[in-house]
Amino acid sequence: MICYEPVMVAMPLAKHISEFIMRKRRLPGREEIAGIMELLNLERKHSERDLCFYRGHFVVALCFSREKHLIIDVISSTGELSDALEVIAYRDEQLDSYIIEILPANELEFEGNIGIEPVIIDSETFELESTPVLGYFEEGEEGITFIIDRETYDRWKESERLDICPICGSDDLVWSGEVAYCPSCGFGIMIEGRKDEQAN
Ligand SMILES: [Zn+2]
Repeated sequence: MICYEPVMVAMPLAKHISEFIMRKRRLPGREEIAGIMELLNLERKHSERDLCFYRGHFVVALCFSREKHLIIDVISSTGELSDALEVIAYRDEQLDSYIIEILPANELEFEGNIGIEPVIIDSETFELESTPVLGYFEEGEEGITFIIDRETYDRWKESERLDICPICGSDDLVWSGEVAYCPSCGFGIMIEGRKDEQAN
């Protein structure tokens, strides 16, 4: 996994938080967030009650964790704010659901929702109620690729929104079999374990 830009941290971060909520049936606490951040190569440098500062090679993050919500600002370590993102997780009492969203600090830069849809988890059954497209980034010979798991791909396919880029929101994704390319943001999209399955 590579974490060169805020989006490369925010998307896997939102996925980890969602999986945590479905597994543990609550928001992650401070120490659990530190564990998730470690998986994303972000080290806790400073903490003060409900505020923690994390640092990685290319990206820094500020995490505000409260009992009922969680806000994590992900900023490029150069201090550039144009690609900064905010991951928020909270329980919506009216919807009776946990919501996890990725919001751009500068909304003009993005045409749609990052991840296509926010994560919505029913707070009684703890099942996923929406179709978020979240994953992580890898760098290979063909450039930088966004990797999603098979389950995410199958749900995305069912939603009939395969033309929408989960990273930048533009609606001109080009598919060739199970590999896609976005002409707007330049990222490729691949399904995890695809090569193994083709071999079988
Ligand atoms: Zn795109």
